[in-house]
Amino acid sequence: MKTLDSAVAIHEITQHTATPERFRVYTARQLDQIPQLRQLSEQQRFDMRVVASVLPFRVNQYVIDQLIDWSAVPEDPIFQLTFPQRGMLAPEHFERVARALREEWPAAEFNALVAEVRHALNPHPAGQLEHNIPQLDGERVEGIQHKYRETVLFFPSSGQVCHSYCTFCFRWAQFVGDKDLRIAARESSRLCDYLRAHPQVTDVLVTGGDPLVMKTRNLRACLEPLLAPEFDHVRTIRIGTKALTFWPQRFVTDEDADDLLALFEEIQAAGKHLAIMAHYNHWRELEPTIARQAIARLRATGAQIRAQGPLLAHINDDPAVWARLWQTQVELGIIPYYMFVERDTGARHYFEVPLVRAWEIYREAIQRVSGIARTARGPSMSSDPGKVEIQGVTEINGEKVLALRMIQGRNPDWVQRPFFARYDEQATWLNHLQPAFGEERFFFEQD
Ligand code: SF4
Repeated sequence: MKTLDSAVAIHEITQHTATPERFRVYTARQLDQIPQLRQLSEQQRFDMRVVASVLPFRVNQYVIDQLIDWSAVPEDPIFQLTFPQRGMLAPEHFERVARALREEWPAAEFNALVAEVRHALNPHPAGQLEHNIPQLDGERVEGIQHKYRETVLFFPSSGQVCHSYCTFCFRWAQFVGDKDLRIAARESSRLCDYLRAHPQVTDVLVTGGDPLVMKTRNLRACLEPLLAPEFDHVRTIRIGTKALTFWPQRFVTDEDADDLLALFEEIQAAGKHLAIMAHYNHWRELEPTIARQAIARLRATGAQIRAQGPLLAHINDDPAVWARLWQTQVELGIIPYYMFVERDTGARHYFEVPLVRAWEIYREAIQRVSGIARTARGPSMSSDPGKVEIQGVTEINGEKVLALRMIQGRNPDWVQRPFFARYDEQATWLNHLQPAFGEERFFFEQD
């Protein structure tokens, strides 16, 4: 009887009875048009304009109306996730841009200043532009990255925006209009050429931005060719997205929502595993009815939803938030997958959490959930040599150390190697750590 009730409930939740909602978005130029911001002081609104001149800003009506608790602003986590805050720029950068805005500098000078500040914010961490761009027949294959042997990342050009922007985004450089900082492929034929030449690739990760901002017909044009028998070696297609948070209507009421779900079914009917790599930062993103309908409809296609997101000061640096996030995900049929460490780029100094504290938060959160929600790995750094997980703090031969593990590595032989760093309470990234036991280098630095 219980099974029948559940089936009925799923059926009901997957019906899209709501009327289609119009997608309305605000960028830096339209900050003044957001009525809710009138509750802030003039100074706060000016501060936002300063920061939004440097870092990308884009928020949609759904996020404003249904995700942000305006009675809790500015501390509200979803407000912090989407709206610029003064502390996101270093004081000297903030002051220079603020002065230029106040003095109404001519566009050319203002833009030069903004470009200078952006370049000081490490726009492409982990050597993204220099490494990992593959070559075919002596030519660069644009819009693709191939860092780990079995996985290729594909950045379709029309998926290089998001329904809203996260203030901490590590790919922020792609959104500020500087073409030199952008990774994108106009179409997927070069991806297909590359995959033909690389039969060792089993996973294609379609990413952005957010590929689910694309119309279904455009996404289909990218993905359908991969279903041909010549690409049987591609076993898994992953799609990285935050649409389940920022625009769940994409799966429920958008005019091509049903076509999108049909495409997902076709991918699986062709024998491939489809994994939706959903980006979540806070359990509040899972609360609205439409967000839950989107999850249910997506799951009904057979696709697996795996959840990942960074640990961030001002947003989710609290074990109770992560425990509730993971627990709710499990209840909704989502697999908790990764807790990331905030990357060394953009507004990093505002959001970063020291590695030791990150591990404590992870540990306390994991302790609060049952084994079924303990599938979340972390805290993990997507660093230049590979994905490095902080396993804990311990003492070996009287030396206090951080135990680390390479989860994924540029060199496949590095995968799963444990290693140790000197205990450091301040360190926030791998390059701040020193090898333990008097060693001069970490093992991956000797390679
Ligand atoms: S959804 Fe992802 S790519 Fe888009 S702004 Fe947020 S972190 Fe960046």
